[in-house]
Amino acid sequence: MRAAVLRENVEIKVEGLPRRYPGLPWREDPLVIEEDYPVPVVGPGRVLLKVLACGVCYTDVDIVEGRVRCEIPVIPGHQIVGRVVEAGPEVGDPREGDVVGVAWISEACGRCHYCSSGLENLCGDFRATGCHVNGGYAEYAVARADFVYRIPPGIDYVSAAPLLCAGAVGYRALKLADLRDGLTLGLFGFGASAHIVIQVARRLFPSSEIYVFSRSPEHRELARDLGADWAGHPDEDPPRRLDRAIDFTPAGEITARALELLERGGVLITNVIRKQTPIVLDYAKHLWLERSVRSVANVTRRDVGELLEIAARYGLRVETQPYALKDVNRALRDLKAARVRGSAILRIS
Ligand SMILES: [Zn+2]
Ligand SMILES: [Zn+2]
Repeated sequence: MRAAVLRENVEIKVEGLPRRYPGLPWREDPLVIEEDYPVPVVGPGRVLLKVLACGVCYTDVDIVEGRVRCEIPVIPGHQIVGRVVEAGPEVGDPREGDVVGVAWISEACGRCHYCSSGLENLCGDFRATGCHVNGGYAEYAVARADFVYRIPPGIDYVSAAPLLCAGAVGYRALKLADLRDGLTLGLFGFGASAHIVIQVARRLFPSSEIYVFSRSPEHRELARDLGADWAGHPDEDPPRRLDRAIDFTPAGEITARALELLERGGVLITNVIRKQTPIVLDYAKHLWLERSVRSVANVTRRDVGELLEIAARYGLRVETQPYALKDVNRALRDLKAARVRGSAILRIS
């Protein structure tokens, strides 16, 4: 089968961006497109999927550049939509022919105190799709049958892909933010995740004002289209202070900026795995008056399932920018350069 494989960590070379990791090779094409990669074998409790589409996530840029540690070589891709072509032994559901999604959570132990209290995203044995096991940048992928999600009718498979990570992790961040109707919400950065979160927040919390901060005029325009009450540059002040905020950016200074704009008792959720620049905080300016900051890590199956249901119920609009599998390296470059509107998606078959 055709697959895009990460054989070693590489810094992705993008015109206009300086080299940051002199210890790594610096290449425009970090993944190797292989034509004869063996089709994976289905084991007990697993299903073989013919991949229809797979989202390209900013985490994949982190994986390629070594900020997220994975087992290399690996086929990345953790927002997979595929058709079941073979069910292994001991699989009752899903069945051959079903269209299902696979998310970042590939498996968790199911026994530890995190798993038994609904926090399987924090399980010590958490294994990630496209990182600890091969993912969906390929014509076929294997997944555990109890870690896939039926795609609800009404969502096409290209739109479903970004819901599986960008959408689901953003939705988890929104849950952790504990937003209540009427409180103001600020979103920093407006890419794949935020453009879905804003639509969920708009529907679940209709009286809340939502402010979007982005350096990109195009992203600010998209934010207004999708229901932002105000959209501005991160240096601009919003109409009111923020009760809740979610930071989707890899920039450390945005954490400080968001905390600075928080109302007393406000909560900031950081929805990014690695900040690329340091976070410098001043206690009085950023934290005093019971302001708090917490991170969001991974997703649970419940997060993914709920978000798919919400997306189907409200007809969420998912902006996608399609690429062929052979062009995955261009997709990674576009993502790194913030040239993607909405979510980058590989259309595979
Ligand atoms: Zn992701
Ligand atoms: Zn566990």
